[in-house]
Amino acid sequence: MQITIFGTGYVGLVTGACLADVGHEVLCMDVDADKIARLEAGEIPIYEPGLEALVSHNVAEERLRFTTDPAAAVAFGTLQFIAVGTPPDEDGSADLQYVLAVARTIGEHMDGYRVIVDKSTVPVGTAGRVREAVRGALATRGSELDFDVCSNPEFLKEGAAIEDFTHGARIIVGTDSPRVEALMRECYAPYNRHHEKLMFMDVKSAELTKYAANAMLATKISFMNEIANLAERLGADVEEVRRGIGSDPRIGYHFIYPGCGYGGSCFPKDVQALARTAGEVAYRAELLEAVEAVNHRQKATLFAKLSQAFDGDLSGKTVALWGLAFKPNTDDMREAPSRVLMEALWAAGARVQAYDPEAMAECRRLYGERDDLALVEGREAAVTGADALVICTEWKAFRSVDFAWLRRTLTTPVVVDGRNLYDPQAARQAGLLYYAVGRGASL
Ligand code: NAD
Repeated sequence: MQITIFGTGYVGLVTGACLADVGHEVLCMDVDADKIARLEAGEIPIYEPGLEALVSHNVAEERLRFTTDPAAAVAFGTLQFIAVGTPPDEDGSADLQYVLAVARTIGEHMDGYRVIVDKSTVPVGTAGRVREAVRGALATRGSELDFDVCSNPEFLKEGAAIEDFTHGARIIVGTDSPRVEALMRECYAPYNRHHEKLMFMDVKSAELTKYAANAMLATKISFMNEIANLAERLGADVEEVRRGIGSDPRIGYHFIYPGCGYGGSCFPKDVQALARTAGEVAYRAELLEAVEAVNHRQKATLFAKLSQAFDGDLSGKTVALWGLAFKPNTDDMREAPSRVLMEALWAAGARVQAYDPEAMAECRRLYGERDDLALVEGREAAVTGADALVICTEWKAFRSVDFAWLRRTLTTPVVVDGRNLYDPQAARQAGLLYYAVGRGASL
């Protein structure tokens, strides 16, 4: 099949490369000329395991190409995927300007039947707005060409995006058109061989499914952080509680890790956007509001613990950070807990000395050169000369550490572990002042 993808970010580029890899011909379009130039030069603008090899292989096979030309993009695929960003608007609702701009572009250039596939995460009712935008652009040209709009939300997670796309639990398609169903079946047939993964449903249910999935996962995290905060105050160990509840198959072990709050481009904005959507239909989504409030509070706990360890005065201190990305295996720092911490530290007059295996370029892009931020090569360099260490991201390379060495290297042996990586008893025996999340009994 010939397929066009608008947007070459995490979702668009992974979708394009994976669909090309199973034999489709894919043209990826982006308005960011610099990004397209880098992709054409064989450079991958984001860090995602396996993506570079997948892209270069399919470019070499001439099944994957890139363009900034909207007319060429619209002319190419029967399926036109929209995979552009839907960032939060000022009021928390999803900003649809990029999605609707693509819809207008398609309407302006199409010369025959097209299926517009909403892959971006968009609020319930967006397919209708996309339809109106295409129809409006067609009307301006005095044209009434036939087209369909369907919803095909994406469930991949950064850091395991290719695996998730190729072996995801389900492929959701929202449509009421048999013609669209047949085309989407053809598109996804290579991923639907072992068992039936394709789920067809009405458009609004498909749109809501994506938000419901993310809101459920965010709820699990906030719930566990709430229990962790309680455990801390009650003298219980949340890691024991986690094992105790995870063993119940009705609960399970997934997504019940306490920590320093969820970040990334999806959970924060999708929980907010769903709460806004609820407001639009005169329903107050109290649970979603609480999930978000707990998460905000949790991100602030890293600074609070550090501040407590230094009797409220962090001015002039140097704080080492291990991990900047919002989670391991990505360079994405959108809404990362590390950012809340760094900004609070700077406001308190402290200096940050940070290391992340992949996100340092992104950090430099976000914050530029500043006197109170040193991005250093390696976890050793980060702690050298620092007064305290905070672990913000559970990269594999941070999971094991020589406590005695850490004790010798840090000026004051304060360690705030936002990811519960270490054994509190062992850390304390080595002379560290170790603060974890919800481990009251162990400290
Ligand atoms: P991103 O910000 O990484 O990429 C978006 C791309 O769209 C950018 O390269 C931008 O230049 C491009 N773009 C903007 N306007 C355009 C236009 N008119 N034509 C062509 N390209 C245009 O975004 P992302 O993380 O890939 O997310 C895309 C969508 O997928 C969002 O709705 C997001 O919520 C959803 N989603 C993201 C993830 C994830 O893990 N990142 C997972 C599932 C769903």
